[in-house]
Amino acid sequence: MSQYHIDTRCIHAGYEPENGAPRVLPIVQSTTFQYDSAQTLGELFDLKADGFFYTRLGNPTIDAVEKKIAALEGGVGAMLTSSGQAASLISVFNICHAGDHVVSSSAIYGGTFNLFYKTMKEMGIEFTFLPPDCSEEELNAAFKPNTRCVFAETLSNPSLIVTDLKMFAKTAHAHGVPLIVDNTFPTPINCHPFAFGADIITHSTTKYMDGHAVQVGGAIVDSGNFDWNNGKFPCLTEPDESYHGIIYTQQFGKAAYITKARAHLMRDLGAQASPTNAFLLNLGLETLGVRMERHCKNALAVAEYLEQSEKIAWVNYPGLKSNKYYDLAKKYMPNGTCGVISFGVKGGREAAAKFMEGLKLASIVIHVADLRTCVLHPASTTHRQLSDEQLKEAGIGPDMIRMSVGIENVEDILADIDQSLAKL
Ligand SMILES: *Cc1c(COP(=O)(O)O)cnc(C)c1O
Repeated sequence: MSQYHIDTRCIHAGYEPENGAPRVLPIVQSTTFQYDSAQTLGELFDLKADGFFYTRLGNPTIDAVEKKIAALEGGVGAMLTSSGQAASLISVFNICHAGDHVVSSSAIYGGTFNLFYKTMKEMGIEFTFLPPDCSEEELNAAFKPNTRCVFAETLSNPSLIVTDLKMFAKTAHAHGVPLIVDNTFPTPINCHPFAFGADIITHSTTKYMDGHAVQVGGAIVDSGNFDWNNGKFPCLTEPDESYHGIIYTQQFGKAAYITKARAHLMRDLGAQASPTNAFLLNLGLETLGVRMERHCKNALAVAEYLEQSEKIAWVNYPGLKSNKYYDLAKKYMPNGTCGVISFGVKGGREAAAKFMEGLKLASIVIHVADLRTCVLHPASTTHRQLSDEQLKEAGIGPDMIRMSVGIENVEDILADIDQSLAKL
């Protein structure tokens, strides 16, 4: 499958029907799978054999979509989760425990920030947050002897900061820890984090991957490139008593991390995707290539239009030449970033509300990154738990409007913005 272009893999990877089998990936809506002998089931339980036995740990529909996402990112394996939140939690918790430390970008999705800052802190994991445009020296200085990973978003939601992936990866590796990146916004169509040194990728598949706003889901992808044998990750290199003493790196080699995520954490936390959601996600993935191309084209046209309007205070879109991250975006996302742009309407918070309410085609929703154009005011919604100081660190102003430009005809999107701006 790797010989094909990525948009071809979007359609074909993960599922190759046998003679007479359904051409379209079927929904296997069954919790359980039947075997002739108790011994076979026992071997499956002990991870000695490969096969499905209980949908919390694996299911044919889910498996096919995992294989597709692994093929899109170029990883050795992937695991679907019930949400992007579950993917973020498991990606870090798989290798960081009470007493460990994580270096994280501060420009991350508000839900991820709360997960780290509140819940995982309560689990005993300590976080140091740094702006993603920090210098290499600042990043270096954040490490401690008990640091176990670095976490960042390739393109941050909603501040649209492009992380210098090579610098982050190089620094993480110099300290013997992996770089985990959330690649939700650019998707594998526009950014290939593994090619720039990232070791683990997470996704909220709820966004562009699904693209139609019909399911909440997440994914973790393992590059297979990180060498866990440096003494910092006994959870992967020493016996797991709950599996009769297996050692993940010995038994599963390059797939040690992703196998442990499933065998250990999915077993215990139970944040699995449902087969029907995996099926819906797969339909979205089939058109991801064409949708991302159109999202980027439309968003650039909207950003350029807003930039020349005198009613707009500022526009943030890394595809604009005037943008601070234009060069980094060209380096890491040469075909475009995504459909999300942010901007401020002159007149601050009040004008922002009036502009949003004046839109007719675009709707006000919490969601982002689906095929319908929509708008949101992050400071009063997705990021409302954050203090003013934290908002600033996450790159979010009180006047910021996040517009997720859809794949409608761009003339209609522009006309809608135009008529609402005219009313201000
Ligand atoms: C939405 C989002 C998440 C959380 O995903 P859910 O599917 O809503 O749980 C994580 N990271 C990013 C970048 C997101 O946009």
